[in-house]
Amino acid sequence: MKNKLLAVTLLLTLLAAPCLGEALDLSALGEIEEVQMIEETTAEWTYPIPYELLKSSDYITLVNRDNLLAEDYVPADMVEDLDCRKVSYDKIQLRETVAEALYVLFDAAQEDGIYLYAHSGYRSYRTQKTQYYNRLESHNGVDDGVVQYPGASEHQSGMAIDVINKSGIGKKFTNDAFGNSKEGKWLAENCWDYGFIIRYPEDKQDITKISYESWHLRYVGVQVAQYMRDHHLCLEEFTQEWKEAVAEFEGTEG
Ligand SMILES: [Zn+2]
Repeated sequence: MKNKLLAVTLLLTLLAAPCLGEALDLSALGEIEEVQMIEETTAEWTYPIPYELLKSSDYITLVNRDNLLAEDYVPADMVEDLDCRKVSYDKIQLRETVAEALYVLFDAAQEDGIYLYAHSGYRSYRTQKTQYYNRLESHNGVDDGVVQYPGASEHQSGMAIDVINKSGIGKKFTNDAFGNSKEGKWLAENCWDYGFIIRYPEDKQDITKISYESWHLRYVGVQVAQYMRDHHLCLEEFTQEWKEAVAEFEGTEG
């Protein structure tokens, strides 16, 4: 009985051996092919953000005085009204992905004992235009940089949101009051991990040409936001950097 069992085991081992050998060879081949493929497609792309993301994401679009949104641009994928803490019952619209990211950010803040309130999100071209010319009128026709030129406001993109703390509700936004508050400090430290950037930082005013706004968040996605934080870039700088990387890559591609 014992001998018979041994014979069967031996036979099975012999039968299995060539199969095992084949399987090993194949998987090894597969691995080699895979490595070669990766080397071929990424040989020249060394920039830390994926090429595909930069070419396809419209969440990284630069909006400023030199890069205006079209008069008729309205984001197609906006929520009807934000479903989070707000300063009033007035409707606030944002692109859906941005709204979802904001909910996560508000929840995370709350876990740290920080209570944020959404103030204003999407603003139409027409509203911006009215606000701009009203501001001009009340400042003797001088653009003082407080209200953005029509088409230059990120609020038209549906990717920007102004947030405030409880004590700031109903008051004029100031960096002294909000930027220095525990809510403002939490935001400046943590917004990046939820895909948002402080769009108009204090030390980049010469580049953004916009006064520091500690309350104005812009969504760009987590990977880009964290990269911008780690490399201390504003959106103008990041845009220039990645466009150069893409141009270089596409220029040498063959
Ligand atoms: Zn704003």
